[in-house]
Amino acid sequence: MPIDPKKAKKAPSKKLKNSKLPKLPNGANIKVIQITPRTFLIPLFLILLFSSLIWVWNGYVGEKVHYNDNIGLNAILSGYASGTYEEIVVQGDTIEAKKKAIQNVVNNEIVSTRDVDRTILPANLSIGEIGLSDPKNPTKVSIKKEWWGSVLSETIPSLLGTILFIGFLIFMMSRMGGGGMGGPMAFIKSRARIYDPETDEKVTFADVAGSDEEKSDLVEIVDFLKNPAKYKDLGAKIPRGILLQWPPGTGKTLLARAVAGEAEVPFFSISGSEFVEMFVGVGASRVRDLFAEARERSPSIIFIDEIDAIGKKRSPGIGGGHDEREQTLNQILTEMDGFDNETNVIVMAATNRADVLDKALLRPGRFDRKVTINLPTLQDRKEILQVHAKWKPFADDVNWEKIASITIGFSGAELGNLLNESAILAWKKSAKSITQAMLQQSIEKVVMGNEKKSLRMSEHEKKLTAIHEVGHALVGKMLPHTDPVHKISILPRGGAGGVTWFLPEKDRTYTSKAKYLDELATLYGGRVAEEIFFWNNYITTGASSDIERATQIARSMVMRFGFDSEVGAENLATEAADGNFLGGDGGQKMISEETHRLIDAKVRLLLKDAYGVATKIISENKSLHEKIAHELLIKEEMLEDEFNVFFEWIDVVPQKVTM
Ligand code: ADP
Ligand code: ZN
Ligand code: MG
Repeated sequence: MPIDPKKAKKAPSKKLKNSKLPKLPNGANIKVIQITPRTFLIPLFLILLFSSLIWVWNGYVGEKVHYNDNIGLNAILSGYASGTYEEIVVQGDTIEAKKKAIQNVVNNEIVSTRDVDRTILPANLSIGEIGLSDPKNPTKVSIKKEWWGSVLSETIPSLLGTILFIGFLIFMMSRMGGGGMGGPMAFIKSRARIYDPETDEKVTFADVAGSDEEKSDLVEIVDFLKNPAKYKDLGAKIPRGILLQWPPGTGKTLLARAVAGEAEVPFFSISGSEFVEMFVGVGASRVRDLFAEARERSPSIIFIDEIDAIGKKRSPGIGGGHDEREQTLNQILTEMDGFDNETNVIVMAATNRADVLDKALLRPGRFDRKVTINLPTLQDRKEILQVHAKWKPFADDVNWEKIASITIGFSGAELGNLLNESAILAWKKSAKSITQAMLQQSIEKVVMGNEKKSLRMSEHEKKLTAIHEVGHALVGKMLPHTDPVHKISILPRGGAGGVTWFLPEKDRTYTSKAKYLDELATLYGGRVAEEIFFWNNYITTGASSDIERATQIARSMVMRFGFDSEVGAENLATEAADGNFLGGDGGQKMISEETHRLIDAKVRLLLKDAYGVATKIISENKSLHEKIAHELLIKEEMLEDEFNVFFEWIDVVPQKVTM
């Protein structure tokens, strides 16, 4: 299956988990403990004895202990500072802060009660770091070794997760208790996250690499937020809504935050998808709260991420269930319409799919400014890599130029992900720094999925895969408008038995008809090779995704790109994909039966011709094909140079044309 880096499925990035302790490998000596009544009776007895002792002891002293677990670390620390406690005992990661015992007379008996505030030390802190060692403080602090250490050592990894979680809860609770707006991502009534310029880490334009044009589009907004008066004096029209559009992971969210950071204004962030699941009416009231909060703290920015989740074209008549979406959307529009010259609130929104947005959103006074963000160019990619490489150790052999050039089609987020993957890889190999080879391996992982070493192919399957992949590579090599072969592999990965990876030499804005035609033939190279080298009934399902992709391209050529002169340059596809058949703003073009038949015939013709081209190339180069496949079978992977060696003496290989 040939891989186009822009379209390939991305390997899901796996987060590192608190993994369980490694299992014993098979064959290791495992002590077998026989469970007899005695094995558990003795500990049971001991436990009973122990707990009754404690009970007796407590009774003897006559002290009732009242634990308070809801207090949180911060409260304990401030209690320590103000001398509230008699003693603080740290045992393992449990902190018990004991207040002075209080004596009361109950039923003619003296009862002593003691309040003990108890909490758990968050796992990322050590006891030394939280400042319980002030020499002037009279409170006695005793740190005891955890006696259960050995018992629990096996469950610690999972405990750690729990402790972290509790620590996080405590952290959040203490933040919220402290007046709401304090910390990063404090929540407010509208449930928007707010980033405050005074307390939160600031994101600025410097954190957004590349994207110079987009930034310059937004400088004016920053300027307005800083000096609204200047604009008003000039009578300039004040921007209201800005729509950041295009592919996921290109830094839309980042850019919006950077605008707030540059202008040093509060940033209220909420995602459109958060409204979709809500009860009817809740979304609208949240929007009202949100705008009220933003006005109160103006100048400020409201950011609505994934606005397409609520701002889709309203399709007339199709089922209910969109009420919430519509009410939320209407509320946003009403709020924006209500802005006057004194309102210094800018609404920014982001979407991956500007084409599906309701036109009402884009009217003047609403989201009437668009900033289009593109996939990063070579230069942008270099800069983005630099931003993300900042805190990671790289070996001297890393060639950023090369990495930037083979990551064509990667978004900013994917580049960040790539560097993360490489850091994880280095960590797995216990290497001190990240090398060029690790980076390249990570690129392949992001583009093509992980190698599945465990998946065994039979000898026959391997042969077939080699023949199939060389089919793609050979046809691609012999045609002038295809990208150069970067790598061929018969190591199975991510669902595919093998891959042939073609890599464009430079960024391309347009694709020519000639290139698509050659690409179709290349896609069929795999199946055609199977057919030529094996008995016809032994062709496999290995070509199914090639066929799927070829069909898709051919249909686009005829229905969208206007590449067929008889069908003409008419778009017959877009609206069909949207599932909106009922007219209105953008109903589907009615396609006549006749046109349908013409489209089908033309698509079939394109595919048949491509099949023919592939058949011609492979059958004319059978022995060469066999030689390359044989070598691939031995090496399992073949790089560009190793592949090209086979063609050095052939003078019929065409010069590549990059259109
Ligand atoms: P979007 O909102 O467009 O889907 P994000 O703003 O959420 O994308 O970007 C995701 C991540 O990708 C960012 O947090 C950042 O780490 C990285 N990223 C994307 N674009 C850039 C860029 N131009 N410079 C630096 N990092 C970027
Ligand atoms: Zn294939
Ligand atoms: Mg985003």
